[in-house]
Amino acid sequence: MGEQRVYNFAPGPSTLPLSVLERAGAEITNYRGTGMSVMEMSHRSRGFLQIFEEAQEKLRRLMHIPDNYKILFLQTGASGQFSMVPLNLIGRTGRADYAVTGNFSNTACQEARKYGKVNLAATSEDRNHSYIPAQDRLKLDPQASYFHYCANNTIYGTEWQYVPQTGRVPLVCDMSSNILSRPVDVSQYGLIYAGAQKNMAPAGLTVVIIREDLAGHALPSTPLIMDYQRMIEKDSMFNTPPCWCVYMLGLNLDWVEEQGGVEGMEKLRQQRSRLLYDTLDGSRLFHCHAEEGSRSGMNVTFRTGCEELDAKFVAEAAAAGFVNLKGHRKTGGMRASIYNAMPVEGVVRLCDFIRAFDKNN
Ligand SMILES: *Cc1c(COP(=O)(O)O)cnc(C)c1O
Repeated sequence: MGEQRVYNFAPGPSTLPLSVLERAGAEITNYRGTGMSVMEMSHRSRGFLQIFEEAQEKLRRLMHIPDNYKILFLQTGASGQFSMVPLNLIGRTGRADYAVTGNFSNTACQEARKYGKVNLAATSEDRNHSYIPAQDRLKLDPQASYFHYCANNTIYGTEWQYVPQTGRVPLVCDMSSNILSRPVDVSQYGLIYAGAQKNMAPAGLTVVIIREDLAGHALPSTPLIMDYQRMIEKDSMFNTPPCWCVYMLGLNLDWVEEQGGVEGMEKLRQQRSRLLYDTLDGSRLFHCHAEEGSRSGMNVTFRTGCEELDAKFVAEAAAAGFVNLKGHRKTGGMRASIYNAMPVEGVVRLCDFIRAFDKNN
């Protein structure tokens, strides 16, 4: 079944473990003797509730999520959280801090401006988001209701290597593209969110981990569907949740556990990213977009400096079975997304390909 699969370096939706896809395939018409697919189950049925609760429990176990945090399974993507976060959290003081280190954090920041006074606590725009500002460069507003940042900048290929220290101001973090790839001390955060389609499951599911006391302060105009408190009360079932994606998340979390949990994922992340950065640094042709010390372990952005050569690389790589390596238009060049489910073998082979291309061009 896996024979003709390619190495898929797409930024999201992205590659999933083959064993997870095979298990979903085996269960697709008849889930464990129920005579139906998970896609056909009532979200209120006992069978589905078990899938749902187990997925929550597995995530809590893997990320060591403390009891005073709720796990929500929502829709509308990480982008939905750009609105939901300020709608629910900015009301306490009417102010919030935003660090802008890429495209998504910029969109989140602009969205929050609709709902309160936003302080630009840091920006890396001056060098095309090729770095993460240091702690001593953060301009913090002590009156902020929260501090928002994006842990891994999927488009630019940079990643925060430290957790911002903001005193008593709660941290809100977009972890869409690096969740489950490294240990995180959840208790340092007020709220963590992630679109599932990068590192967890198919598109359509958004995971929110929220400290209980932060909910219940939504602006009066907050739509019901965007109210954390309402979603907590209804255990994410105010409306129909993305059932199939939650099931897929559960299978993927089983796989993460089998690989040694988040600690296992971190080892693999280090192996993959070291291989790739070493190969690029050792080449004649290629240069990385991200500055040393800010480089992402998940999205590796690089280019030759010559557009025709970049295009040639992307085309020849695709022909050799390494697909979706074209970079985002904001950085140009190439981007290899090497999420949890990318086998180390895929990166080893890509490095061979890069070395050969470097020699022949
Ligand atoms: C992909 C991505 C988003 C947008 O996610 P959607 O689920 O498409 O809304 C937001 N933030 C980060 C860091 C991302 O990688």
